[in-house]
Amino acid sequence: MTTAQADSPLGRLIREQIRADGPLSLAQYMALALGHPKHGYYITRDPLGSAGDFTTAPEISQMFGEMIGLWCVDVWQSLGAPGAFRLVELGPGRGTLMADLLRAAGVVPAFRAALDIWMVETSPVLSGLQQKTLAAIKPPVHWTDHLASVPDGPAIFIANEFFDALPVRQFQMTQTGWRERMVGLEGERLILALAPDAPGAIVADLPRNAPLGAVGELSPDSLGIATELAGRIAAANGAALIIDYGPAESGLGDSVQAMKAHAFTDILANPGAADLTAHVDFARLARAARSAGAQTLGPVGQGDFLHALGIAARAARLAAKGGRAADAVTAALHRLTAPDQMGTLFKVLALTQAGHPSPAGFAPVTSSRRPP
Ligand code: SAH
Repeated sequence: MTTAQADSPLGRLIREQIRADGPLSLAQYMALALGHPKHGYYITRDPLGSAGDFTTAPEISQMFGEMIGLWCVDVWQSLGAPGAFRLVELGPGRGTLMADLLRAAGVVPAFRAALDIWMVETSPVLSGLQQKTLAAIKPPVHWTDHLASVPDGPAIFIANEFFDALPVRQFQMTQTGWRERMVGLEGERLILALAPDAPGAIVADLPRNAPLGAVGELSPDSLGIATELAGRIAAANGAALIIDYGPAESGLGDSVQAMKAHAFTDILANPGAADLTAHVDFARLARAARSAGAQTLGPVGQGDFLHALGIAARAARLAAKGGRAADAVTAALHRLTAPDQMGTLFKVLALTQAGHPSPAGFAPVTSSRRPP
């Protein structure tokens, strides 16, 4: 028995639940560890920055949010510069991206004037920080913990490192086909063990000929949100920008990981006290979005995307004064864009209405990218 499991109130609750109702799917475990209304990881803390467990692109440099601001203005103009539309951010962290985005977009006052801003956030701690960060923003910003409460209508949706925080189910190939990996108990210890029965229709989405022992992941929550975004865009126009880390093509493998104080840790050791993430399956997200009627662009590497939007020129301007600040700008540019840093592993996927011209940062639409 690890001490962390014994000491954590959420660990105790999870063990009680397993004793009462049987093993949890990995997705149920992740949902509790991250989002339990009292003890969930995101519910109880600000996980970001050097004092936290991980750092994200908007926290590395203001340039990240600024480039996304320029992207939003460009998309808004390509939509015919509507006088009223929504800007919606999913999982906005500390609100840094939104603040940088709005400052950069301030160069086009009509864009700012048209905005109705919505922040979709489940964490009371983080929405409190977002409110502080955006206190000076006019018109007012709305907060909700669920995308469903954001009114319909033309909108641009932004999600940076949001999808990687959504629960995944895992399956393992056995002699008798796919079996779900469940979180169960061995004495007082949480363990991963395979469910004895076949999981049903869900595994139709995984390759049937996977080698023995292979692990496949599916994130019904992620696909549900991609479907909802695509449906909204198809119906009312707009766009979505999804930035996260993961492969461009669906593959096999266990990508669920736990991070605590910038180091990897056992995913079962600290429920509620470590960040849990999974790689985002961009191909599946894009397929779900196309099935719901949207056009998808990319994914392209974060480095190529930011360079296409002019991040190098922005960095040069910010670094013009020289000195230590300039060194920090150069280091941030490298971290955000270099292939061995965040430039390739992190990818950018856009959703638009079918037939909409390619937004900035994406190659022209080919017919194969349009929905059938
Ligand atoms: N986008 C921010 C934060 C990334 S961390 C950045 O790049 O810095 C993940 C964010 O998603 C946090 O704000 C977390 O509280 C939020 N979150 C996680 N699960 C969520 C859910 N189901 N609905 C809404 N927000 C969620």
